[in-house]
Amino acid sequence: MKRLTQIRLPVDRSHRLRDAVAKRLGVPLDDVGEVRVIKRSLDARNKRRPVHVYTVEVYEPGEVPGTSRETRIAPKNWKGSRPVIVGAGPAGLFAALRLGEYGIPCLLLEQGAEIRKRSVHVAKFWKRGELDRWSNVCFGEGGAGLFSDGKLNTRIRSPHIRYVLDRFVDFGAPPDIRYVNNPHVGSDGLRRVIRRAGDHLRARGCELWFETRVERLLLDGSRRVEGVQLAGGEEVEAGQVILAPGHSARLLYRTLLEQGVAIGAKDFAMGVRVEHPQVLIDRVRLGRSAEQLGPAEYRLTYQRDDVRVYTFCMCPGGYVVSCGTEPDGVVINGMSNRRRSTRWANAALVVPVSAADIPGDDPFRCLELQRAVERRAWEAARAAGGRHALPAQRLEAFLEGAGEAPLPRVSSPSGAVAVDLEEVLPDFVTRALREALPVFDRRMRGFISRDAVMMAVESRTSSPVRLTRDRT
Ligand SMILES: Cc1cc2nc3c(=O)[nH]c(=O)nc-3n(C[C@H](O)[C@H](O)[C@H](O)COP(=O)(O)OP(=O)(O)OC[C@H]3O[C@@H](n4cnc5c(N)ncnc54)[C@H](O)[C@@H]3O)c2cc1C
Repeated sequence: MKRLTQIRLPVDRSHRLRDAVAKRLGVPLDDVGEVRVIKRSLDARNKRRPVHVYTVEVYEPGEVPGTSRETRIAPKNWKGSRPVIVGAGPAGLFAALRLGEYGIPCLLLEQGAEIRKRSVHVAKFWKRGELDRWSNVCFGEGGAGLFSDGKLNTRIRSPHIRYVLDRFVDFGAPPDIRYVNNPHVGSDGLRRVIRRAGDHLRARGCELWFETRVERLLLDGSRRVEGVQLAGGEEVEAGQVILAPGHSARLLYRTLLEQGVAIGAKDFAMGVRVEHPQVLIDRVRLGRSAEQLGPAEYRLTYQRDDVRVYTFCMCPGGYVVSCGTEPDGVVINGMSNRRRSTRWANAALVVPVSAADIPGDDPFRCLELQRAVERRAWEAARAAGGRHALPAQRLEAFLEGAGEAPLPRVSSPSGAVAVDLEEVLPDFVTRALREALPVFDRRMRGFISRDAVMMAVESRTSSPVRLTRDRT
């Protein structure tokens, strides 16, 4: 097998990849076996002639490519007690899958409902503001991952990435996620993928209990874990407990701290979601090629000394959605379906929050800040007359300090009400955004424009607490 990089092909001629490979190798086409695309990215710097840039593995005719499955471990005869996993989000589900490959069936406990029932809870929340505390956009089968956009790009390097992508494809995700630069499944696709992952686990002897909230760990006299206690008081024995409760399990984290589990404050990021008409982003990023290439994406960063602002989780053709877990707090995030077909483009626009900059040594000090801002966002929306609509402000009005201003239509299924976001966001976030936005506008003309809207608050970018792990 040979690996070739930097094969550049005009986007409309991608099907000629094998020809390009043969040409690069200087061999006839018949001497080229399977060509496996490892990575494909788009170079649209020249808007008139965008190219796809490929990295490929080229096999001899008859040579069979390996799969990530070969790295999986043959089942052993497990004689220990059944491990318990708390949380059926991506982390809990992948822990269960991996244990299943060792031949160790587990019990997965999830406080939220299974997918169908949960989808009804979410629809009621978005349309009517009726929040189910334990089954919502963040809680339930698939975790926050179920309503995630399904953008599977990560900024870390890990030998497990290929494995994760392969498993997504096994469960029905589009095969191109294995190699495109910004893989995307879409919220609609994720629902099918997660349902199949659940079926796969059950077929291997795992049990999934939904609407089952874990209240605390059961510890013996020498503080070894013996199992978990459920919200109804029932006890479940287990020699091993894997905690995968995600970034919003505030109640459980409080209890764990009381039980003496080591927890520390963790850096996170906070800000808003900015939304533009997708046509504007397409025009700026791709020019005339937009029709051919589909909705455009972007990524922007700004840094001056210790002031940093960056965009992430950009959702072309997506929605801004309400995803709070408490009745008196507003949290937002972005999602899109596989086709990315709405008229809007949104992205998180956030400022890092360092635990070291918040006075005190309370492990929950970052969480408390997060909670306070979410509550202010809720109060501002209520004061502006919104029952469940998202607090929002035109970007131009925010920059001018002009307070509330009439809003254009937004993508959110919950709607939006005009507020002054300066009254919601911490000062350091407001200052950083006001400094960075004009720079972003210079890089992407139109970023500051009439129809650009900011919605708040993008606060659950990652967990504000960390369960400290030992080395074993
Ligand atoms: C709308 C939206 C869009 C997103 N888009 C993306 C994206 O495009 N790409 C991306 O990488 N990330 C995205 N994210 C973030 C992503 O979903 C999370 O990073 C991911 O879900 C984290 O996985 P996790 O398994 O650690 O935790 P979670 O997904 O939060 O899952 C934790 C689970 O544990 C359960 N739980 C918590 N406490 C208990 C308890 N006491 N007892 C029983 N169960 C409990 C919860 O109910 C939950 O189901 C998005 C998130 C949202 C909300």
